[in-house]
Amino acid sequence: MKIAFIGLGNMGGGMAANLVKAEHAVNAFDLSDDALTAAKENGCETFTDAAEACAGVDAVVTMLPNGAIVKSVYEGSVIGKAPAGAVLLDCSTIDVATAKDVIAKAEGAGYDMVDAPVSGGIAAANGGTLTFMVGGTDKAFARAEEVLKAMGKAVIHAGDAGAGQTAKICNNMLLAITMIGTAEAMTMAKKLGLDPQKFYEISSQSSGYNWSLNAYTPLPGVGVESPADKEYQGGFATALMLKDLRLAMEAAGSVHATTVLGSTAAELYEKFAEDNGGLDFSAIIKTL
Ligand code: NAD
Repeated sequence: MKIAFIGLGNMGGGMAANLVKAEHAVNAFDLSDDALTAAKENGCETFTDAAEACAGVDAVVTMLPNGAIVKSVYEGSVIGKAPAGAVLLDCSTIDVATAKDVIAKAEGAGYDMVDAPVSGGIAAANGGTLTFMVGGTDKAFARAEEVLKAMGKAVIHAGDAGAGQTAKICNNMLLAITMIGTAEAMTMAKKLGLDPQKFYEISSQSSGYNWSLNAYTPLPGVGVESPADKEYQGGFATALMLKDLRLAMEAAGSVHATTVLGSTAAELYEKFAEDNGGLDFSAIIKTL
């Protein structure tokens, strides 16, 4: 298959390289020369214009920073520029409303398109082990699945257009809440004189079991190895968690959903990100 890939940053670079490994021909475009140089080294053909990269392809994949950029790239360089039969896949994390709007415009022009945001960070993008949550019609999903399988370990059809973004922001809002809850409980146990490792052993096998505790323990030297053991470097940056929480709050507001804990988590991460945006999101334990 011939695939245009737009947005070859921390995530997109590795994803495009995995499409090449799966024997797809990849036309790469990014505004950054460094990203294009790396893409060329990984076997992509590079372009200096997004619309040119989309000419003659079977599929277009985008991995871009936000909804405004996704909208401008699709409206300016993909819709009407990629061949009519191409399937379009936006893997960026963006707001649900923009995702639905761009897909409606693409469908109006005759394309099949999905929103397909990912779970998993840079290591999963490089290793081809991302999880994709996909929104779109059955036909668009079936066509997108072949492309996504080359970049991930799981590809799940979440529902109609925008359902992938909905799944992503609801999941990450839950993750923020469980991380803060886990951090609070571990800190309180320690202050009450309980050995944190004992707390981990007990709670990780009791009803306190959750991913933030069991698979991403936020205290150094306790539980499983995690970014806490590397001074909170690497992992999932606080700035990216904040981005997802802002999207979640925007979406909650649009449907009048009650998100008492989600709103509190968003407020805490807003404050923490002021000086700690580059640290892993589990570092929020340091504020408790
Ligand atoms: P990044 O900033 O490293 O990469 C984005 C790339 O897009 C950059 O190379 C940039 O030059 C390029 N770009 C920006 N505007 C462009 C345009 N108009 N045309 C072409 N290229 C353009 O970001 P990232 O970490 O790779 O994240 C990409 C997306 O993936 C985001 O939506 C993010 O929320 C999501 N995401 C990231 C992670 C992570 O751990 N980094 C995890 C899950 C999801």
